[in-house]
Amino acid sequence: MSTITAPSSVLRGGEWLLQPTDADAAFTPERLTEEHRLIARTAKEFVENEVLPVLDKLEAKDWSLARTLVQHAAGLGLLGVDVPDVYGGVGLDKVSSLVVSEMMARSASFGATFGAHANLTIVPIVLFGTEAQKQKYLPRLLSGELIGAYGLSETGSGSDALGARTRATRQPDGSFVLNGEKMWITNGGFADLFVVFAKVDGEHFTAFLVERGFGVKNGKEEHKMGLHGSSTTALIFQDVKVPADNVLGEIGKGHKVAFNVLNFARFKLGAMCSGGSIGAIAESAKYAAARRQFNTPIASFGAIKHKLGEMVVRTYAVESLLYRTAGLVDARIESTSAAESHGAAALNAFEEYAVEASIAKVGGSEALDYVLDENIQIHGGNGFVKDYPAERHYRDARVNRIFEGTNEINRLLIPGMLVRRAIKGDLPLIPAAKALQDELLGPPSLPATDEGPLAEERRAIEAFKKVALMVLGLAMQTFGQKLTDEQEVLMHAADILMDVFAAESALLRAESAGRRGHSKASLHEDAARVFVNDAALRIDAAARQALAATVDGDTLRTMLAALRRLLKVTPINTVAARRRLADETVARAGYPFA
Ligand SMILES: Cc1cc2nc3c(=O)[nH]c(=O)nc-3n(C[C@H](O)[C@H](O)[C@H](O)COP(=O)(O)OP(=O)(O)OC[C@H]3O[C@@H](n4cnc5c(N)ncnc54)[C@H](O)[C@@H]3O)c2cc1C
Repeated sequence: MSTITAPSSVLRGGEWLLQPTDADAAFTPERLTEEHRLIARTAKEFVENEVLPVLDKLEAKDWSLARTLVQHAAGLGLLGVDVPDVYGGVGLDKVSSLVVSEMMARSASFGATFGAHANLTIVPIVLFGTEAQKQKYLPRLLSGELIGAYGLSETGSGSDALGARTRATRQPDGSFVLNGEKMWITNGGFADLFVVFAKVDGEHFTAFLVERGFGVKNGKEEHKMGLHGSSTTALIFQDVKVPADNVLGEIGKGHKVAFNVLNFARFKLGAMCSGGSIGAIAESAKYAAARRQFNTPIASFGAIKHKLGEMVVRTYAVESLLYRTAGLVDARIESTSAAESHGAAALNAFEEYAVEASIAKVGGSEALDYVLDENIQIHGGNGFVKDYPAERHYRDARVNRIFEGTNEINRLLIPGMLVRRAIKGDLPLIPAAKALQDELLGPPSLPATDEGPLAEERRAIEAFKKVALMVLGLAMQTFGQKLTDEQEVLMHAADILMDVFAAESALLRAESAGRRGHSKASLHEDAARVFVNDAALRIDAAARQALAATVDGDTLRTMLAALRRLLKVTPINTVAARRRLADETVARAGYPFA
């Protein structure tokens, strides 16, 4: 399927920091094709009609039902979105993959089952499997005959995944014997095929495809805070013999499998979070319209409008950056030479946009937690009891900040990967930071005159980028190789970078809606303007703290003066904008941009 026209030169990962993007070049949800909408509808109806009505049974750990549901999803083509048709998939683009993930999130528990199977088992085989492995496993995984799981974490190694102790001992016949234990494995209680990471001869970190029938045992179900309808267990390997043919990728290159799979999975987790937010906004809107206090629907109170408006604004920004990233990934895959296999092209694309995937994961999970917390608050006492789904959503979502790389690890990766690319010369960040320092130390230049709607926001985002460059450039200059030890500075830098990418993505979407005469263009403007307005305040706070931890004396004073100059953003009336967004949300009984 070909749905997005690749621009002649596709923006590389992280390049948005150094150059402006034209609104027409950014993919947005408003540009979804009929084909995209059809797959979204299919996924939505599947979850609403087949999954949500049986959630209680899933929460009672009926794994044969979970298996049946995976098979139904398979019948609808939802498992094979990322798989070329030669292996039984439907080979759609990554935007399709995004819309499916968004819809699956309406049931977080089944979303986890689905994600571990489709994203963490099928995708690694597509990306790294040999032809024989693809032929052997993909059709059975795609039909739901086999259920997949991904065994990376161990008791002693979660974030430090390469510290795994599970051992694969090479045998004289070329096979391996696995010994060790994996922890917290989604689908662990009933999966048939596991992507397992172990160290060959205790040294070479390697991925394996391990069938349950080889002798894998699982531990008891974990008692979790949420996701009660998804299986989470330990996996036990006691002298499990794995044929030589079941090495996935190369011996000693397991990190390539693990990290590339996570790049894609993080992006999809961001999509699940965005889908979860959209679902919860609808619940809040309906409840706020129906619930009366002081003889008035609570939706009429400004305090509630603020919440609904802000839930929409944060979701809008996350959704905008997700679709923009999906568009970039698709354009990159399409622009690769036809000689390159689909797997190799996808692999390169996910590596290219790893920073954006981490932003999607962190931004998506934190926006979702905000939305779900406010969803409970809008429901009052009813938010705290099990009669309403608000409390379940809240419990289910908390793990999103922990798995697929904790948000701390992902925050470290965001500036860390940009700096690494800069040092390698793949991203001209160092000359840009140097030029910026010269500009900041020189006489103030007059801002370019830019008129029209959103001109002030465009200017603000240009300034945000300069702040990000100033913070990152100074940190690289001050700490050099030791920058990795300055985690607090890196975290502030990550927060600024996330706001830059989210704010620009929201702005581009609003601009695009305006240019195309979209019926809701003014609401798009409201959402983007509120996000940019508040991002300026957050960026200011993060930059001040980062700069004060990086430089002192005259240099600090000069940089703070430059920061004040750059971030002189005139506040907008966010109260009025949030009220308009809230009113539309209540009128539509849901997210206004769905
Ligand atoms: C419900 C559930 C399902 C899961 N499913 C799977 C699955 O299917 N497959 C799988 O392999 N794993 C799975 N996991 C495991 C999950 O990926 C890990 O829990 C996660 O990677 C974090 O590892 P950890 O729990 O060991 O925490 P730790 O790594 O011990 O982290 C604890 C805290 O320290 C911080 N920290 C750690 N290292 C650093 C550092 N270098 N710098 C700064 N801060 C740091 C972390 O951010 C965190 O806040 C699942 C977990 C849960 C709860």
